[in-house]
Amino acid sequence: MRPIFPFSLIFITLLLGALPAFGEIRNINKFLDQCPTNDPAIARIRGDFEIRRDGAPTALPSCSEPVSQMPSNAYTDELMLLQALRVVYYMDQGMSGHLPWTPGDLYDWMKSKVGGINIISSGGGPSCCTTINGRPFVNIGAHDDATREFQKKWIYLSVIVAVYAHETRHVDGFPHSSCCGATNGCDDTFDQANLSPYGLQWWLNKLWLDGTIDVGIGCEPPADFSDSASFFLAQVNTTFPSRFCATRPPVASMPSIPGGACHDASRRRAVSHR
Ligand SMILES: [Zn+2]
Repeated sequence: MRPIFPFSLIFITLLLGALPAFGEIRNINKFLDQCPTNDPAIARIRGDFEIRRDGAPTALPSCSEPVSQMPSNAYTDELMLLQALRVVYYMDQGMSGHLPWTPGDLYDWMKSKVGGINIISSGGGPSCCTTINGRPFVNIGAHDDATREFQKKWIYLSVIVAVYAHETRHVDGFPHSSCCGATNGCDDTFDQANLSPYGLQWWLNKLWLDGTIDVGIGCEPPADFSDSASFFLAQVNTTFPSRFCATRPPVASMPSIPGGACHDASRRRAVSHR
């Protein structure tokens, strides 16, 4: 026993050093180029959120790095959803008080509400929920190759993350209204103290915009960074306010550093980040 103890300590230290930084995604482009199969947290994520297709369990999807170079038809819905869940797992890990509807982080809240995601092969919009083994599963229609190609990029994958949060909110109720002109596509009131599903989506986009949840869009190449900043500002000021009727969310201005500054040291040192 005795000789093993110090070696164990060294091993644990090395292991911890290899894990992603606590509570942070340093560089979202690099993060999304990595495969779930190479993520030390993947067993835990798949244990907490089961991905099913048409009700049946799915296997761990094959994946090759960099993910951005994979053919669209190999970047399956199963793989795309695991990438979204990896983002949820890491993006605000250890943070508290930033989400008005729960004291902790998004991952723990979702885990407490749903058993996973059920892909519907015939397509269709997202909905809540199908009960499988006594747990609610969010339904998400399968996407075509062109859409999944877009979803390799953070701004489009962020839509999946926020939609998943929206649907999870329905486990708490929150039926929609049709007040904004879309049948059951609206919420009457934006109330920070009791956020509705579209309110949750607004809130997440606001935190991605202002950098409260910093996934490192500041490390993106200038064109992507500009796209990300404009995208999240439009989500916050146009897309989601149009879903409300009685009380709309507050208007945001473009932050001086949208999404937070780049903290990826390897990005700053290296000409190429891969
Ligand atoms: Zn809804």
